[in-house]
Amino acid sequence: MRILVVEDERRIADFLGRGLQCAGYAIDVAPDGASAIQFTHDTDYDLVILDLMLPDMDGLKVLERIRGRQSGPPVLILSARGQLDDRVKGLENGADDYMTKPFAFVELLARVRALLRRGQPAPERLQVGDLVVDSLRRKVIRGTETIDLAPKEFGILEYMMRNKGRPLSRTMIVEHVWDMDYDGLTNIVDVYIRHLRSKIDDKYTDKLIHTVRGIGYMIEAPEKAAPVRLDPIIPMQAAS
Ligand code: CA
Repeated sequence: MRILVVEDERRIADFLGRGLQCAGYAIDVAPDGASAIQFTHDTDYDLVILDLMLPDMDGLKVLERIRGRQSGPPVLILSARGQLDDRVKGLENGADDYMTKPFAFVELLARVRALLRRGQPAPERLQVGDLVVDSLRRKVIRGTETIDLAPKEFGILEYMMRNKGRPLSRTMIVEHVWDMDYDGLTNIVDVYIRHLRSKIDDKYTDKLIHTVRGIGYMIEAPEKAAPVRLDPIIPMQAAS
């Protein structure tokens, strides 16, 4: 899950970024409205946390631009303006939730999780074959065995499970699990997939993680693994 934090106040942006990273999310920070619009244009976010008082424009303008697109991410407004008028205006303009600064991080996290759950039926329990991921409690069980994963391993597995049966490119995996600094380091995905396989696949007869040649990786229960279905999520690739 990847979240964009639009916040010009460095202290709050750092605080939010660190907290959300600890909770297992990939975070980008946009310090003004123009970069926020650019970021949401370039990257497919799962959620945007939006400050209203930005140095270059009103946050509501940013909201307008995000909402102007076909399927924008949910937006949580986080602003010092606590007046009822702003709250109503934000929600009228298509924000999904509104919180006033100062805020308690636990409450923010609860609302973030609620927004991310929306539109994803029964998302807390993901299953492929005998592998079950409880994304709320961050537990992984294969058969009867509980498996311990590092946070990034968990992030990759959760992303793959949410897209089971779809081949995912290394770039897509990097974009959903790492922060922007990792752009281009797609080889790291191979390393993490190796770790994941050693924990969830190697000692089991039925392999769940499949390498999709020329694309990347896919998770699927073995009886359905072949032939590979080409879902529209695969980015178009030039024939070579
Ligand atoms: Ca501000």
